[in-house]
Amino acid sequence: MTKGKSASSEGPRARIGHKLILSFVLLVMVVVGLSGWVLFELTDRSLERQMRDHLVSVATLVSTSLSGNVLRYMRPGREHSDLYRRLMGKLQRAEQGVGARHIFVFDRQYRSLLDTDGLMPIGREYPKRIFHRRELERVWKGYTAHSVLFYDGDVPYMTGYAPIFDGDEVVAAVGVEIGAGFVDSIRVFGRSVLIFAGLSALLTVGVAWGLARTLTRPIQKLVEAAREIGRGNMDQEVATASDDEIGYLGEAMEEMRRKLAARDAQLRLMLGGVAHEIRNPLGSIELYAGLIAGDLPASDERKQHIEKVIEEVRRLNGVTSEFLEFARPAPAQPQPTVLARLVADAAFLLAPEMQAAGISYEEHIAPDLVCYIDAEQMERALVNLMKNAVQAMRDGGHLTVRAADDGAEVVVEVADDGSGMSEAVQARLFEPFFTTKEQGSGLGMALVARAVEENRGRIEIDSRQGEGTVCRLRLPQSKDRVPWAGF
Ligand code: ADP
Ligand code: MG
Repeated sequence: MTKGKSASSEGPRARIGHKLILSFVLLVMVVVGLSGWVLFELTDRSLERQMRDHLVSVATLVSTSLSGNVLRYMRPGREHSDLYRRLMGKLQRAEQGVGARHIFVFDRQYRSLLDTDGLMPIGREYPKRIFHRRELERVWKGYTAHSVLFYDGDVPYMTGYAPIFDGDEVVAAVGVEIGAGFVDSIRVFGRSVLIFAGLSALLTVGVAWGLARTLTRPIQKLVEAAREIGRGNMDQEVATASDDEIGYLGEAMEEMRRKLAARDAQLRLMLGGVAHEIRNPLGSIELYAGLIAGDLPASDERKQHIEKVIEEVRRLNGVTSEFLEFARPAPAQPQPTVLARLVADAAFLLAPEMQAAGISYEEHIAPDLVCYIDAEQMERALVNLMKNAVQAMRDGGHLTVRAADDGAEVVVEVADDGSGMSEAVQARLFEPFFTTKEQGSGLGMALVARAVEENRGRIEIDSRQGEGTVCRLRLPQSKDRVPWAGF
């Protein structure tokens, strides 16, 4: 565990940016897709209608220029007659004039009378598949008709039919096939609609992304500011650049921060005042109790009582000192400091407690490791760490302090094989006044964290319930050599 890390630091589960991009793209795709589709359908239909009208009028025009009467002379074998040539010439001119693929005339038995392709002699029956039987039913009743769009290989075309009358009777029909060139243009049109839709989707993603960034960046900043305040760092002003609702939220947070900081300062002032007021008389009580204890003979039972008083007064003194230190923080004054000396001093202070608890102490620290730290602050921090370790090993154990050179840093480890900590305790470890001990102040680790931060170090905790704890400090290394004579 690293100090300050909390479960909510992974970020939001669903991001505004993703939602924005998704809804924008969906919206644009629906609008562009729908309107493109409608436009496409409308154009397709109107082009097809135009084509049909055109076909039917061409077929009608051709049919009126042929009289049913004359067609009676079209008998098999008459392909070389003048009449046949004249009529063929007429049809071929019409074919060229309107840009048709094929014009053909046939009687009610579907036998060819005239055919601009010149492949069908008079009287030859057309293969059935080229006709649109249902449409021709209409033609035989005297109406015009047209086929649907169909394909000859890759080429799209349509056929228009018109009846040829002899008097009132329909004797033959003319068919006109015209290539449907509009199909190509409608395809191009469809492709353009698709490309347009794709481009607008891309553009929307870009715009939504930009919008999301301008929205989420200030929110991210506010989240960081809120976390800092949550960690108890209330000196950093909550900066807001925008004048919208997010800016408004930022202003509200800044106001909250100022009020919290003011309340914090007030509380510290009060705590410091009370601790100070208590500490002075405590000194006198300890002194006088000591005098009384000195006067009493060892056999007197009251001597034990007064010694108990002295012990409790000392404990109270320690707690008030912690309160004072917490209430009146002093800025670090870092100096090149020999680490081994600090640790030795701390261990010396704790020796009686370690002995009482049956703890074996080990130290692995190179005497030439020098840190750039405030010696007094860091010594108190080490005492706090080692004291916690000792208190976690009520039934004895091993306390080991190690230090190693790690480039620009020195890594100091305080390891115990005591009770260890649950996840819940680790999460609140650095909170001021958090303690699981009956007589704890809960300030030890808060002070350690502050001292480490003040000295530009870092702290990591490795702890398992029932197995022990390792507190790892990373402190800035000093390359200056400091002479130290040893203990
Ligand atoms: P205090 O020691 O007054 O309780 P601290 O801030 O020093 O306050 O520690 C807070 C809590 O963290 C302790 O009450 C204890 O539960 C837990 N703790 C700290 N260090 C250790 C350790 N080395 N082993 C087990 N628990 C620890
Ligand atoms: Mg403690």
